[in-house]
Amino acid sequence: MPLPKAELHLHVEGTLEPELAFELAARNGVKLPYADTDELREAYRFQDLQSFLNLYYELMAVLRTEQDFEDLANAYLARAAAQGVRHAEIFFDPQAHLSRGVEMGTVVEGLWRALGRSEEGHGISTRLILCFLRDESAESAMETLQAARPYLDRITGVGLDSAEVGHPPVKFREVYEAAAALGLRRVAHAGEEGPPQYITEALDVLGVERVDHGLRCMEDPELVARLVRERIPLTLCPLSNVRLRTVDTLADHPLPAMLDAGLLCTVNSDDPAYFGGYAGDNFDAVQRTLGLTEERLRELARNSFLAAFLDDDEERRQRYLAEVEAYTFP
Ligand SMILES: [Zn+2]
Repeated sequence: MPLPKAELHLHVEGTLEPELAFELAARNGVKLPYADTDELREAYRFQDLQSFLNLYYELMAVLRTEQDFEDLANAYLARAAAQGVRHAEIFFDPQAHLSRGVEMGTVVEGLWRALGRSEEGHGISTRLILCFLRDESAESAMETLQAARPYLDRITGVGLDSAEVGHPPVKFREVYEAAAALGLRRVAHAGEEGPPQYITEALDVLGVERVDHGLRCMEDPELVARLVRERIPLTLCPLSNVRLRTVDTLADHPLPAMLDAGLLCTVNSDDPAYFGGYAGDNFDAVQRTLGLTEERLRELARNSFLAAFLDDDEERRQRYLAEVEAYTFP
């Protein structure tokens, strides 16, 4: 039995495996520029962020109907359950769909068809987080938030993703203020490829409660001290960092130093179909390569539930935490 954990940094579009991409392409009459799943899997061996993003957006063309989004989410939930995920807070990128003529309702209701039955089907409780693409305009983000208003009973929070450098958090001040006024929780990618100041800005200007990635905080000791003092969770994605060359190799990952510094770190998979593994694979990789002790792994699992948006269900959080404490490593 794998260690129970929450996954807090997961882009549902990044869970599209080559087999499902071809299945959905056939169902929707979309022609993919790849002969078969082997050739597509080869394309998944991209070398940098831009080639990843090109492929990521290209493949989204196969996602058209509610059924497609339901199948995508169910495929993720099944894999996550097998790796010990008990609670998943799932990002989605509506702008990447709206721009292709797929409506907000199709995306949200399709995902919800899977998420609403996830507890019975997969034993995973879920939350849904709407992400803005930071390389799109602030106006587009605001329009996206407005388009989501009929579906806010399905959406827990907002996030900020895609290419970071040159798109500082401050650009999205107004849309985050509007999201807060609607009662939405706030997170943002910051300090992955962007500088530590982006993390500070995400906290001070956007009011985020969690920082996605955030590993470049290690360049700024005062920021580290603040993150420790304020117990701000960081959602790290080690295998993603290696594939996108944020770190040279997994052995160079700052996770052990971050834990030693007292940071509230969690381990997540980001875009698992593209980056070589799901949540449990990330745990296995850091255990193997970084030599994390069982107590460190248990701390990471505990942190994931402490950092989860379960404030409306504390009883459940306590139950998950008890599962972590009771866990015996094989
Ligand atoms: Zn991400």
